[in-house]
Amino acid sequence: MISVYKFGGASVKDAQGVQNVTGIVRKSTQPLVVVISAMGKMTNAFEELTRYYFNRDLDLCQQKQQEIIRYHQSIIKDLFGDEKGSAGFNRLAELLAQRLKQAPSRHFDFEYDQIVSFGEMFSTSIVADYWTAVGQTNKWVDVRTILKTDDLYRDANVNWELTAELMEDTFLFDEVSCYLTQGFLGGTLSNLTTTLGREGSDYTAAIIGYVLNAREVTIWKDVPGVLNADPRWYSEAVKINELSYNEAIELSFYGAQVIHPKTLKPLQNKNIALQVKSFIEPDGQGTVICERSGISEPVPVFILKKEQVFLTVSPHDFSFIMEDRLIEILTLFSRYRIKMNLMQNSALNFSACFDDGRDTNALMEDLKKNFLVRYNNGVDLLTIRQYTPGAIEQMTSGREVIDSQITRKVARFVMR
Ligand code: ASP
Ligand code: MG
Repeated sequence: MISVYKFGGASVKDAQGVQNVTGIVRKSTQPLVVVISAMGKMTNAFEELTRYYFNRDLDLCQQKQQEIIRYHQSIIKDLFGDEKGSAGFNRLAELLAQRLKQAPSRHFDFEYDQIVSFGEMFSTSIVADYWTAVGQTNKWVDVRTILKTDDLYRDANVNWELTAELMEDTFLFDEVSCYLTQGFLGGTLSNLTTTLGREGSDYTAAIIGYVLNAREVTIWKDVPGVLNADPRWYSEAVKINELSYNEAIELSFYGAQVIHPKTLKPLQNKNIALQVKSFIEPDGQGTVICERSGISEPVPVFILKKEQVFLTVSPHDFSFIMEDRLIEILTLFSRYRIKMNLMQNSALNFSACFDDGRDTNALMEDLKKNFLVRYNNGVDLLTIRQYTPGAIEQMTSGREVIDSQITRKVARFVMR
C-alpha cells in the first residue's frame, strides 16, 4: 500500500531543509506520493508580488520578483553548487517573468492563483532536480493536470470524480516508487491554475490519500505532533499521542492551527490514519489521528484566537431576537463571508465573535440600519476542550471575561 507525505514550507526553507526532507523520503520503505509546499514564507512573498502586479506598482513588483528569484537561487546554489543548477527552476522563472510583463486581467483572484502558484511550482521543480542529481529516483507530477476544480479562484472546489480518474491513471507505481507533486494547487477543466485556500497543502495530501486508498497520510511539521496548546504562549504544552477524527475536526474548527480543516473528512470517510510528525526528529512517534473515541491524554486542550471582534446587536424597536431577526443577521455574515467563531443569543441580544477582517466595517454599517450595535475589538477567544475547573481558573484569572459559553465538553471565553 502507498503512503502520502506532506512537507510544508518550513521544512524546505533552505538547502539543509531540502536535504533533511530527502533523507526522510529515502528512509521510506513504502511507495510514496510526496506533496511539497512553497519554500519558507514564499507564499506571502508571492501574495505581495501579486498585489504590486495587479495595482501596477511596477518598481515594487520588479523588486519583489528579484527577491523571490534570489531566494530560490541561493538555495539552488547551496544544493547544486551553481545558482543555475536547476533546469526546472530556470524554465519556470522565465515563465514568471513573461507573465509579469503582460498586463493583468481585472479579476484579482484569478491573477492571484496564476502567480502565487509559482511558489509550489518552483519548490517542487528544485526538489525534483535535486533528487535526480543525488540519485533519489522520482517522478515529478504537475498536480494541476490531475487535481481538477471549479473556477472559484483562491478557494476552489474539487471535482472528485474526475480527479479520482486522473490520479488513478497517473500514480501507477509501475516504473517509480516515488512521485513528487505540489500541494495547494489545482486546475480548471480549461487548464487554468486554481488554489485551494491558504495552507491548503494538507488538504491536497488528503485528497491524494483518499483517491489512492493510502495506508496513511503523514504531515511533517516543525512540532513533535499535535500539542494540547500552542507552545508559543503555553510553556507546559504536551503532545497528544492519539485522537479521533472528530476531535481533530473540532480542534481545527475552533482554530487550532495544526491541520487544515478540510483535510480530515476525506480521510475519515475511508478510515485512513493521519500522522503528524516532526521533520526535525523524524523517528519520534508523533500524533496519530484515527478512528477511536476522544483524546488519548486526559488533558485540557487550549485553543486561543486573538484579534477577535466581539459584537452585540439588539433590535432598535425592542422586538425580540426571533427566527426572522436571526436569519437577517446571519445572512449579513454570510454575505460578507465573515466566519463566526462563537455566537449566542437571548431574547433581546445577539452576540458573535469573529476574525477582524477587511469587511468588518461594512458588516457593522449594514447591521446598524436595523439594530443597535455594540462591539469590542482586539479581544481573545479561548476555547478549552476537556476543561477542568483548574484549567479555567488558570486561564481566566486576572482577565476580564466579557462572554462565556460552557457545555459538557467545551468551555469558551471571550476575554479582554
Ligand atoms: N504554500 C501555501 C500557503 O502557505 C499552501 C500551504 O503551505 O499549505 O498557504
Ligand atoms: Mg506554505
